[in-house]
Amino acid sequence: MNIARPFCYSVVSLKETFPRPRVFRVREDYDRGEFVSRSWEPSGRPPIGRMILGVVAILLFPCLPAIEASMEDRSEGDDPMKTARLRMVRDQIEARGVKDPRVLEAMRSVERHLFVPEREKSRAYNDTPLPIGYGQTISQPYIVAYMCEALELKGGEKVLEIGTGSGYHAAVLSLLAKEVYTIEILEPLAREAQKRLESLGYRNVKVRCGDGYKGWPEEAPFDAIIVTAAPPEIPQELVNQLKVGGKMVLPVGEEIQELVRVTKEEKGIKTERLLPVRFVPMVPGNRVETKNHF
Ligand code: SAH
Repeated sequence: MNIARPFCYSVVSLKETFPRPRVFRVREDYDRGEFVSRSWEPSGRPPIGRMILGVVAILLFPCLPAIEASMEDRSEGDDPMKTARLRMVRDQIEARGVKDPRVLEAMRSVERHLFVPEREKSRAYNDTPLPIGYGQTISQPYIVAYMCEALELKGGEKVLEIGTGSGYHAAVLSLLAKEVYTIEILEPLAREAQKRLESLGYRNVKVRCGDGYKGWPEEAPFDAIIVTAAPPEIPQELVNQLKVGGKMVLPVGEEIQELVRVTKEEKGIKTERLLPVRFVPMVPGNRVETKNHF
């Protein structure tokens, strides 16, 4: 008895049916397990569609990372600001080594373009500080992220910020801590920042117009303090308002400045020098007229 054991493999022959290629199958016949004969049988048309797909896939393979990146960007719909913001976090912040996932998420979430003047909006996600009026600047996004990471916030802290400016850094902090108290010496900036933070729904931030050198004694002690203008040296009153075990991150110096992390210990402070930086000066309160505290 002949048992057909069909179709061991398939081949494409261009010779016999040129110009249209066809698929042939090999048929092998066996009699009680003994090989008898082998023949070639035409078996319909080759899967041209699948072959083209295969070639396209092979050609596109080297471009996969670029395609993936562009789809990632486009997946944010038609919001070009969001696309720019995600790119800012990826290229300026993660790429420079900031790793804390909570900090990265906060930086992805806060809309920096809503904290800068209209004429600066198109540059809101650039790798640079930007003017916010009254001779002041909103810090470079990387520096904001770096300072936040250096505070090692877990989420339950009470934080003091000196130098509210636009309110941007306070908004980022508000997503990383429980409560944020922020002091701005220039009244118009303090008012605008308070309005902006309120309208954007950052409810755990309190803004005060006043002299940051004095801190916020009614709310002290703080788990963490961040200073976004540079004093010539570490202000003792701010160290006094820090909890033992708490951290303060601040730029220190005049022409030459360094970002410093101060950790308050039972007896004294530990200081670590982090980065060379350039901030606007932290001006002594008696040099600025602050009419209202609110
Ligand atoms: N953190 C801000 C940027 C701050 S720029 C932001 O995210 O936009 C520094 C700010 O510190 C300026 O607005 C400046 O007016 C303020 N400043 C300077 N000296 C100060 C002081 N003694 N007390 C409080 N604020 C001060």
